This record gives sequence, structure tokens and C-alpha cells, in this order.
Amino acid sequence: MPKLSLNVRIAIGTVLGIILGLLLQPLPKDVGFPSQIVFGSTLIGGLFIDLLKMLLVPLVFTSIAVGVANLRAHSQIQQVWRYTLGFFVFSMAVAILVGFSAAHIFEPGKNLNISLFHSAMQQHATTSITPAAFAQSLVHGLFVNPFEALAKANVLAIVIYALFIGIALVAGGERYRNILQLLQEFQELTLRMVSWVMHLAPLGIMALLTKLLATQDLALLGVMLQFIAVIIGTTLFHGAVLLPLMLYLVTGMTPWHFWKGARAALLTAFATSSSSATLPVTLRCVEQHLHVKPEIAGFVIPLGATLNMDGTSLYEAAAALFIANLTGVELDLTQQFIVFLTAMLAAIGAPGIPSAGMVTMVMVLQSVGLPAEAIAILLPIDRILDTVRTSVNVEGDMVGSLIVQKLLR
Ligand code: ASP
Repeated sequence: MPKLSLNVRIAIGTVLGIILGLLLQPLPKDVGFPSQIVFGSTLIGGLFIDLLKMLLVPLVFTSIAVGVANLRAHSQIQQVWRYTLGFFVFSMAVAILVGFSAAHIFEPGKNLNISLFHSAMQQHATTSITPAAFAQSLVHGLFVNPFEALAKANVLAIVIYALFIGIALVAGGERYRNILQLLQEFQELTLRMVSWVMHLAPLGIMALLTKLLATQDLALLGVMLQFIAVIIGTTLFHGAVLLPLMLYLVTGMTPWHFWKGARAALLTAFATSSSSATLPVTLRCVEQHLHVKPEIAGFVIPLGATLNMDGTSLYEAAAALFIANLTGVELDLTQQFIVFLTAMLAAIGAPGIPSAGMVTMVMVLQSVGLPAEAIAILLPIDRILDTVRTSVNVEGDMVGSLIVQKLLR
């Protein structure tokens, strides 16, 4: 029998995980073989994520430092900055507008009664964050002792420190040639280890999806069906139509070509619900399969994993309108504009970990006076929604790196 390619094995793992999870869903999960399968899936899925996270910090650090050092050498750094940040803001703005449009057209929550959720909301205590305080803590979080940032896997702070190192390497020129070479070799070495971990990807993804679907509470999904359908539908629309369209218009790359190169990262993001954990896979996909130059990929992808979140920004905006519908609040145009801005800030500030968007959601709700406790309604369904939005977050980063590369030519 011919050996199946990694991509095919990952696809098989995804399908098997979904089927197994759905089969286990109606069974009691605390006894007998279902409990053993859930236990095994938790263990294997956790191991897969741990391995990715083990490689994440050295990879982010070396990719950015080496990437910037090599870019500066070509005096392109300013353009890369401009195009990258420009694309991030543009694509998130489009995503938010899509979320808004869907919320206005389908009006999810209009026919639901808030009293349904009363007890959930009462049990939920939230601390408040204003947009100003949030922005302030975001800015303060940028410059951190690098050893602390590395130890705590604080990706944003690592990115910033690596940017400094990269720029210093260029400024110092020949003098630091050995350090640059060391970092370069260390990056290659880490990528080699990523390729080993990828052999576990089919099993890891299967395990994560089995556990997710087997343990999801279905009762609430029923009540919230319309909202879930609107969110998943619009997120997929952004990911399957708008992002590929932007990519095609700028680079001429077809969606099929993109999908073939990107699917390992998209499926890993779907299963792990974490842009950060997926980062080693994302980098590998864009460099090896989509042929983005390492210095561009090494810059755009790690930065995008923490800053650029199309799926999250779309969700934050649509969910705020959903809560407004549910509580019978009419948001006027100014308030909707505030939601637009805070949703983008919330997505930029959310770290690439599971359900991070839920934490920053509080700020979006509070910015227009909606009850923050209402996230208690969204939390039970978040694990399901996080899958698709994380995939689209990662897709946005990959599309961004291809577009930036094209614009530089
Ligand atoms: N899980 C998302 C990510 O890692 C963040 C979020 O929206 O919760 O990209």
C-alpha cells in the first residue's frame, strides 16, 4: 500500500475524530469504555499541544530575529511593516463588517428570552475593563524582561524583544555575524523538530476533536442554534470567500492551491483552538508549501498569531449585537462604531489561546453599556465556536504573508 501523505493522514484524523466524538456524545462519559476513550483523547491531545508549545517560544524568537535581520539587509523592513499592519487592520475591519451585516440581517437573539439565561448570568461574576484600561495594559505588556517573557511564553513580548534583536543585529553588521548565524541554525533545528511533531498531528487532531465533541453540552447548543449557525456561517464566509478573494486579487493564487498548502495549519488550528500552539505548523506550511520567503514568513506569521484575528474580531462584533438583541437594547450608530473599534482592539489584544476572545469580549460589552455577565451565555458554546474562528485567524495570517510577499515585488 502506498504511504499516505501527511495532509491526507491529517484529513483522515479530523474526520475520524468528529465521527468518534459524535458517537460518544450520547453515552455517559464517566464509566466504561467511553470514559477510557475520553481519558486517552485528553492525554494524546494534550501531549500534541504540549509538544507544539515546547517548540513555540524558540521558534517565534529565532524566526523574528533572523527574519528582521535579513529584511533590514534588503532595506525592505519599512515596507514590510506598513504592508503587514495595513493588511491586518484591513482584513479585521472587513471581518467586523461581515459580522455586523450578518447580525443585522439574521437578528439572532431577537426571539430568545433573556430570562432563560438568568441563573447562568447570576452565577457569573465579571471584573470590568474599560477600553482605555485595556489599551493601557496592552501597551504595558509590550516591553517585558525577555527572560520572563520567554519563560512565560508571552508571545507578544517575545515578538517585540526579537524585533529589537533583529534590528540590533543589522545595526551592528559584521560584528554580530556569528550570533546571526547561530540564531539561523537554531531556527532550522527547531523547524526540524516541528517536522517530527507533525507526525503526531493526525492522531493529536483526532484526539482533540473526539474529546471536544464527546464532552460538549448539547442542550444549550439547541437553544442557541440560530446564533451558532450565524456565527459559523459568517466566519466560514469570511474564510472561504473573502480571504481567498483578497488573496486571488492580489497574488493570483487560487483557493485550491492555497488550501492544499495551508490545510495542515488550518486543521491544527481547528483542533487546538489556539493560534499560538498552531504557529510552528503555520510557519512550516507557508514556508515549505506556499513558498513564502523565510524572512517574510518569520515576520508576518508570529506577529499575526497574536495581533491579527479575523475570526475573533468578527465574533466579538456579532456577539455584542447578539447580546444587545437578547437584552432588548437598541444600539445607535455611534454605539455600533464603538463596538467596531473595541472589537478590533479586543481581537488585537487577545492572545492566541483557547477562548481568549471571551475574556476580551467583556470590554466590548461594557464599552456600550451591555451587561458583562452576559458572557455567561456565550461561554458554554465557546469551545465549539472557537474552532472555526481560530482557523480563520490562522488563515488570515497565512493570506497576509502571501499578500505582503507579493506587494514587495
Ligand atoms: N482561540 C483564538 C486563537 O487562538 C482566540 C480567541 O478568539 O479566543 O486564535
